[in-house]
Amino acid sequence: MNTDLDELYQEVILDHARRPRNFGEIPGAIRVHGDNPSCGDEIDLPVKFLPTGTVEDIKFTGQGCAISQASASLMTGKLKGRTRGEAEEMARAFHDLVTHEVAEPMRQLGDLRLLQGVRKFPQRVKCAMLAWRAFEQAAKEEQGGGAVSTEGAGS
Ligand code: ZN
Repeated sequence: MNTDLDELYQEVILDHARRPRNFGEIPGAIRVHGDNPSCGDEIDLPVKFLPTGTVEDIKFTGQGCAISQASASLMTGKLKGRTRGEAEEMARAFHDLVTHEVAEPMRQLGDLRLLQGVRKFPQRVKCAMLAWRAFEQAAKEEQGGGAVSTEGAGS
């Protein structure tokens, strides 16, 4: 038995991977494509911001491993309705959580905290971060689409 793997692939994670929430398109939204060639994960993230910068609506489509899809499903649920500042703070907190030992994970991350097990599997960190990288790109590019890759600029 691999208890680290058991910890990572918990029922909540598998459920989000099988039946992703917020899966779909948003007409007129900023759309960022994200890919993680090291695993084969791809997502498209449409995000609609209010003029104030608050996330009015956010969805995703894509395919890939359970971790990438569950992270996107959970993330879209948590970021909807957040201000840009709150969303960026959550992105930082999530990154810390999947790369470091964090004594008290940010409470607002909710079930996303279950993904902290990826820090024991460095290749999976890119999977977990893919949707968040796409969101950061969307926040930067409110005026147009864009693309992001875990392998750096371009691809
Ligand atoms: Zn993956």
